[in-house]
Amino acid sequence: MNTDDLESTAERALARVIPALQEFVGVASISARGELLEEGAALCAQLLRQAGLTVETWRGRGAPVVYAWREPPPSAPTILFYGHYDVQPPEPLDAWQSPPFEGVLREGAIYGRGAGDNKGQLLAHIAAVQTLIETGRLGVGVKFLVEGEEEIGSPHLAQVASEHRQQLTADLALTSDAPVHDDDQAVIIFGVRGLLYLQLDVRGADRDLHSGNRGGLAPTPAWDLVHALSSLRDEAGHVLVPGFYDPVREPTPEEAAMLRQLPFDRDRMLEELGLDRLPGRSEHHPWEFLMFRPTFNISGLRSGYGGPGAKTIVPCQASCKLDIRLVADQRPDSVLAALREHLARHDPRVQVTEIAAVPPSATAPDTPLAAPVIEAVTRATGTRPWLRPRLGGTTPDYVFTEVLGMPSLLVPYGPPDMNHHAPNEKMTLRALRRGIACSLEICAQLAGWS
Ligand SMILES: [Zn+2]
Repeated sequence: MNTDDLESTAERALARVIPALQEFVGVASISARGELLEEGAALCAQLLRQAGLTVETWRGRGAPVVYAWREPPPSAPTILFYGHYDVQPPEPLDAWQSPPFEGVLREGAIYGRGAGDNKGQLLAHIAAVQTLIETGRLGVGVKFLVEGEEEIGSPHLAQVASEHRQQLTADLALTSDAPVHDDDQAVIIFGVRGLLYLQLDVRGADRDLHSGNRGGLAPTPAWDLVHALSSLRDEAGHVLVPGFYDPVREPTPEEAAMLRQLPFDRDRMLEELGLDRLPGRSEHHPWEFLMFRPTFNISGLRSGYGGPGAKTIVPCQASCKLDIRLVADQRPDSVLAALREHLARHDPRVQVTEIAAVPPSATAPDTPLAAPVIEAVTRATGTRPWLRPRLGGTTPDYVFTEVLGMPSLLVPYGPPDMNHHAPNEKMTLRALRRGIACSLEICAQLAGWS
């Protein structure tokens, strides 16, 4: 598409997206509480049907999954768009400047839970496809896979995808579910870190005990947990679970080159982190820690009394949440097995419960369909996008690369300050228009690809 055509087409599509996004944000489809997921799926199905696609809703495993498709013209490729209609809980409510489920338009942005993550970004794809169908210019096959459990770790998506493997066949999976790069420039991402989320529990007596009358004899679950944790990771941050790092793969030369061209604002990062210097060994570029190295984070720690003043007790239990980001080729199940074995040896009283497990995922930088997508984003935004080997966070990208066996790219459309998962989440109209333009041009470029 030429620039004028692209801009005017995106502008027209945007006019339709605004009310659709406000209505979509109005459905408080919160997966963590199982609320309004049927309603979220139904509205999503309706929007896809209005776009000119054939729609099915798959039920039976968790929240409904919405699938929509349109066959490709002969010998043209097919894009599988992935998105989610579920959202995070809105709390704390008093931190919102307008109600989280009203989709209020102010100062050039639509505010509301899900405005960016992921309803707005998903609607950019749908609007682009709808516009191309209406004007007889859709030159590729399109499929949409929209789930309602992304915010709780997509526990059923892999199973659903493998049951519908034939229907989901495509040449490329495309996800827009993140902000663009920090400097507001578009970015194309070739993979994600995985996640293993665990809870550790230690129990002692059947109730909290007086620390004077029983302290000295009573079991001490808080200390037991602290010792168990310190056996898992040393002070320098090195994980002590045997075999933890064995599968960790160094970046390939192509990935390393990508990583070096990505701007890194050291001062801004230091300021954000409240540090004088970055931790870690200097042979790793800081980006490497966010993309190619695993983490072993304590995301919650609880025992005993934490209120004002003193309460002299021996607490009867202690627990913590571990949030472990995994990198290729670590597998959640083998990391969990190694960790269980280590803890069983160290202190068998520590109970381990798995809360979420998502493998990491990677698509090779030289995947043939990357070039037309890079070209498309360059045309739509006027600047060549940054190429980023990995997202530091986690999406169910492995469902595409592993379960369905296709290349997968993440092309985020959200503004850098979209406040996803936080109060005052927003999607700017500028970011929406740019996203629609990217989707229009991605379809156009892939139509010409063979
Ligand atoms: Zn999210």
